[in-house]
Amino acid sequence: MNLIMLGAPGAGKGTQAQILSDKYGIPTISTGAIIRSAIKNGTPTGVMAKTFIDKGELVPDEVVIGIIKERLSESDCENGFILDGFPRTIPQAEALDNLGIKIDKVLDIEVDDSLIINRLSGRRECPKCGATYHVVNNPSKSGDVCERCSSPLTTRADDNPETIKSRLNVYHSQTEPLIEYYKKKGNLAVAEGEGSLEATTDAIIKVLEG
Ligand code: AMP
Repeated sequence: MNLIMLGAPGAGKGTQAQILSDKYGIPTISTGAIIRSAIKNGTPTGVMAKTFIDKGELVPDEVVIGIIKERLSESDCENGFILDGFPRTIPQAEALDNLGIKIDKVLDIEVDDSLIINRLSGRRECPKCGATYHVVNNPSKSGDVCERCSSPLTTRADDNPETIKSRLNVYHSQTEPLIEYYKKKGNLAVAEGEGSLEATTDAIIKVLEG
């Protein structure tokens, strides 16, 4: 099963991708996580990408397309994958089409902008394994450390009110057109994402399994 998670920042793409990944035994590929790891390691791509991420802007298409091509060619993607945060622009979606990989479903998780700031400012992330939490809605069972790998949880640098605003603008202008793009292709599925984490998972499973 090859899936794409669509939705605004903070809609719950990463959290739901993690759940689906465990359920179906297929990897989640988060371009954001790959870029953050490149920044942490000080690679040339990371140094360049940081200037965009810090402003809440998108990293150039050719860079993320290169990242995703390389990652999708790895053997663990053979039985399926979940893309979290890619594609984010029409040219990225077209580049994915050109790879000739069939996408079974594109899941659009819908959440109103008014909920996003609260969701993102309470978000915590494990810098080691990428697991995501929310201080109120989805706290780690182990407190301030990751319940999967025991690493101390951190707040993402771009989860601050100023950058969140710019990320939301970028989402509406550059990523939202993908909803129409996939609707036309016939593989878009919409899941309501404003309820609890469990309610959103149920809505997603329903559209995936019927
Ligand atoms: P995310 O972890 O998905 O919220 O991504 C964090 C940041 O990484 C975004 O705000 C962008 O700056 C960058 N990024 C992640 N995925 C992409 C993508 N597909 N295209 C361009 N920039 C991306």
